[in-house]
Amino acid sequence: VISFRDVSKSFTVKGVTKQASHSINVDIQQGQVVTIIGPSGCGKSTLLNMVAGLFAPTTGEVVYRGEPVSGINGRTGYMTQSDHLLPWRDVASNIATPLEIQGVPKAQRQARIAELMALVGLTGNEKAYPSQLSGGMRKRAALARLLAYDPETLLMDEPFAALDAQLRLRMQTELFKLSRQLKKTVLFVTHDLDEAVALGDRCLIFSGRPGTIVRDVPIPLGDDRNILQLRKDPRYHELCGDLW
Ligand code: ATP
Ligand code: MG
Repeated sequence: VISFRDVSKSFTVKGVTKQASHSINVDIQQGQVVTIIGPSGCGKSTLLNMVAGLFAPTTGEVVYRGEPVSGINGRTGYMTQSDHLLPWRDVASNIATPLEIQGVPKAQRQARIAELMALVGLTGNEKAYPSQLSGGMRKRAALARLLAYDPETLLMDEPFAALDAQLRLRMQTELFKLSRQLKKTVLFVTHDLDEAVALGDRCLIFSGRPGTIVRDVPIPLGDDRNILQLRKDPRYHELCGDLW
């Protein structure tokens, strides 16, 4: 569903050119959950930006369902490293935004908002404004909004980085279920090797200077894995060890 064909991307700032991505060639199948790890600055966010249509490759092309990506399209939902909540709308209204755009009737909208607020552990904060929330709470609100939007492909850039262990596990479990049940294609950037193995069907490992894929590791843990129980599975530890 997404193909990178010899994609490179460089940025020139004040006459200095930096290459963020170099010769990326990879095909991602529909319904695949692809986790992406690599050192800071190796071009992970750049890659997602190119899929989202926010950046154009310098050379090569990114193809989405047979067509070159050119600009933003409504089919990918992007949760960036910063949350981009609307500061003038409270949490419930932020989550409501995609539902309003989709024309979901008010009663249904309210039920869905309540469900999503509960899912991300924000019940009771409906009337709070983004500036009144902690970093982790803002991340969760952004996640709820992404789920309300329900795009066919999810681009997630360290979505669970600011969450406590318990919430993180809950979100991981939820995302895993959602991606497998609804056959969503997911590109998921994380700095957490365990998370990369727990959630992925496949892990792309990047190295910096210039950012390129050095390994493409299959994660054959199946669709019915239990994220909590994985820690007791020797295959999981072997895979985590292999990524190091
Ligand atoms: P992190 O793990 O810290 O989020 P990353 O792998 O996501 O890092 P990118 O944000 O993709 O890294 O950046 C890759 C390189 O491209 C860096 O050298 C960065 O300085 C450069 N870069 C990214 N975006 C821009 C931009 N808009 N303008 C100029 N340079 C950029
Ligand atoms: Mg990044």
